[in-house]
Amino acid sequence: MIDLHSHTTASDGTFSPAKLVEEAQRIGLRTLGITDHDTFSGYDEALPLARAAGLDLVRGIELSTKLNGHSVHLLGYFLNEQRPGLVEFKKWIGDLQESRRERNIRLVARLQELGLDVTMEEAAARGGGMTGRPHFARLLVEKGYVSNMQQAFDDYLDESAKGYVTRREPQFAEAAQRIGQAGGIASLAHPIRLREDLASVLPKLCTDGLTAIEVYHSDHSPAQTELYLRLANEHRLLITGGSDFHGAAKPEILLGTGRGNLRIPEDLVQRMRA
Ligand code: AMP
Ligand code: FE
Ligand code: FE
Ligand code: ZN
Repeated sequence: MIDLHSHTTASDGTFSPAKLVEEAQRIGLRTLGITDHDTFSGYDEALPLARAAGLDLVRGIELSTKLNGHSVHLLGYFLNEQRPGLVEFKKWIGDLQESRRERNIRLVARLQELGLDVTMEEAAARGGGMTGRPHFARLLVEKGYVSNMQQAFDDYLDESAKGYVTRREPQFAEAAQRIGQAGGIASLAHPIRLREDLASVLPKLCTDGLTAIEVYHSDHSPAQTELYLRLANEHRLLITGGSDFHGAAKPEILLGTGRGNLRIPEDLVQRMRA
């Protein structure tokens, strides 16, 4: 069993890197990809532990990008230690982290303007390495302003909601190209969430530097998986797959098996490595 999409406390997961490695071992994962939002710090922390445990750990990252004005998540894999491009890439994700911190300040002000009693300290206390909208969502639930995380997004935090404030996010093409320059594979995360029709935008995404599709994901039905597999093959793209494990932040998703029926073919890792 393999899982190439997971989050730790370095972004919006609730498992520390050490606990995630333990969980991977417990369920018998052969390969684990850590794909925190905008940071490698969870991966870096997990690496020596994974080595000691004999777990194959893949360096990954998940970036929020803009495509035609909408948010699209892009995964980066196997960014290469030996390439000078990785140093430049790390500097660049430092800027992305800064843009989230700056956005968070405006987000607190906006929520207060809407009459909510929230502070940065309270939101930050719910995040680990970085504070993001999921931590604000948890705060709004805990304060009783909404009844669950989804309602927090629907009512306040989603792109279309009244509390939304913009953040400097890279264009899809820039993010894909930067992953490529760092020697990595750029994979379209959970294509089911794309607003546009994938088949129509795929030629453009490939021109922009896309090299893979996350065909296997907890949110994909068998029919959708089939479709993404066909499109990946048609466009000669690599195939990636993962549960998008977030620990208790998304308790219905299990590492390795997603909602229980996720089966990610192990051989796609060899093809990614090649
Ligand atoms: P941020 O990068 O801080 O703006 O937070 C983005 C994260 O919030 C995404 O990676 C998702 O996990 C989560 N998110 C964004 N929009 C929604 C939504 N409508 N419903 C649930 N979660 C969302
Ligand atoms: Fe997330
Ligand atoms: Fe995502
Ligand atoms: Zn994710």
